[in-house]
Amino acid sequence: MPKPREYDVTGRKQRIHGKGTRWCKRCGCYSGLIQAYNIMLCRQCFREVAIKLGFKKYE
Ligand SMILES: [Zn+2]
Repeated sequence: MPKPREYDVTGRKQRIHGKGTRWCKRCGCYSGLIQAYNIMLCRQCFREVAIKLGFKKYE
């Protein structure tokens, strides 16, 4: 379950840019976020989801 990061849930002040404006849609963390292709997942979650999305794994 992702941590609640929505502004109306957390009561945080809405920011336009910087940390806290984007978070992983899967686990809710702020670090290592991948925004390319509108993925919006952290790199940890992306590794797990990438295969289902059709991304091939390159080591
Ligand atoms: Zn994540």
